[in-house]
Amino acid sequence: MDATLAADLTRLPALLDAVRDASAEALAGLDTRPVVPPQDGPPEPRPLPAEATGAAAALDEFRARWEPRLSASAGPRYLGFVTGGATPAALAGDWLTAVHDQNSNSAMDGAGQHLERETVSWLRELFGLGAAHTGTFVSGATQSNTVGLAIAREWLGERLGVSPAQDGAAALGPVRVLSGAPHSSIAKALSVLGLGRSALVPVPTLPGREAVDPAALDRALADTPGPAVVVANAGTVNTVDFDDLRAVAALKDRHDFWLHTDAAFGAFAALSPAHAHLTEGLDASDSVCVDLHKWLNVPYDSAVQFTRRRDLQARVFSNAAAYLGPLGADPDLVHLTPENSHRLRALAAWFTLRAYGREGHREIVERDTACARALGDLLDRDPALRLLAPVRLNVVCFTLAQDPTPERLTALREAVAAEVFVTPTVLGGTPALRAAFSNWRTTPADVRRTAEALRTAAKEIA
Ligand SMILES: *Cc1c(COP(=O)(O)O)cnc(C)c1O
Repeated sequence: MDATLAADLTRLPALLDAVRDASAEALAGLDTRPVVPPQDGPPEPRPLPAEATGAAAALDEFRARWEPRLSASAGPRYLGFVTGGATPAALAGDWLTAVHDQNSNSAMDGAGQHLERETVSWLRELFGLGAAHTGTFVSGATQSNTVGLAIAREWLGERLGVSPAQDGAAALGPVRVLSGAPHSSIAKALSVLGLGRSALVPVPTLPGREAVDPAALDRALADTPGPAVVVANAGTVNTVDFDDLRAVAALKDRHDFWLHTDAAFGAFAALSPAHAHLTEGLDASDSVCVDLHKWLNVPYDSAVQFTRRRDLQARVFSNAAAYLGPLGADPDLVHLTPENSHRLRALAAWFTLRAYGREGHREIVERDTACARALGDLLDRDPALRLLAPVRLNVVCFTLAQDPTPERLTALREAVAAEVFVTPTVLGGTPALRAAFSNWRTTPADVRRTAEALRTAAKEIA
């Protein structure tokens, strides 16, 4: 063994202590360091090290050269995209995932799979899904949507008497995927799956809303020759609008379609009694996407996919290799997900659910939604700013009252970036900004700081 590597092995406990100290310091600084530091590009490149200098030297260089450039995205005022943090228990679980470094994909060494299945069953209960849904962990909602639509593709094949998994997507002929206001990752998934981005057929939404018009969906399905795929949206990223999931599912009485629901962060509405009605009907979906690195507050990268048709899922993802053995009645994870090797990604989710339970996570969801509402009220009262939609759950979509050009909004965004991070969007043709609340640390004091920063900058720009 290299002498430096051997020395690191000998002093491993001290190294872990040093990482622990660096971690505690970074986390303690989340509230005071810039939410997003000035974006001045990468540091001067350094060559590949030839000689070993050990982990302590690597830690020192990381802290000096890279850490100051990192955003406080784990902190309470990183309100861009839809971004969660990591609860203390989730962080512990993620650290232990690396410690145990499992490849949890097969019954030959099955404890990791069992832990993942226990976690999936807890999540299923959290979101009100029935026992007919099975699921796996994947790296994010894009991958979860891709897996759901891959199963949908195989279902279309079943209906038409072909197998895309065997014969290719062309065996299906033209495919139509109907949706009101789908997330951009749906088109990406269709591209990956060989169905093509143009398979996506936009269905009109309700007036002034991002929720699909069920009557328009009914008509679009009537116009679709053969079986179709419907992507229902449970929580759009701009205005957190929800399709009426029960009304969409009821159309199955009259039309033949696979129902995939993208509930990446909207599924968490199920935890809050005041908002749970938004997710009613979710269980009727044939496949469901839920992100976990957003509102569950586990570290990147983590999401879950659920489906009622694990048999079709195994047809798509089965990995035939002599050393893996037959599929069996309860297929190993290697036969259910796009990747073969499978990190024990579930452990962080297991830890946070074990530590805080339904009540602890309900409190996070309710506090975040209360913060979003409070910020919406504060911005709405400012003559320089304008809300573009009611705050339905955890996102505030707003713009400058006067002349909201992309350039002026970029100036506003950059003016507040040390204090709060928000991201741009366009809603109904109007350039806008979004503040999304999904971090477990965020409090009403952060809302006041955020509102103050935005109002001051808006006044200067106006
Ligand atoms: C975030 C999000 C996605 C994509 O999630 P990733 O985790 O970034 O892959 C898909 N759908 C919705 C509704 C989202 O909010």
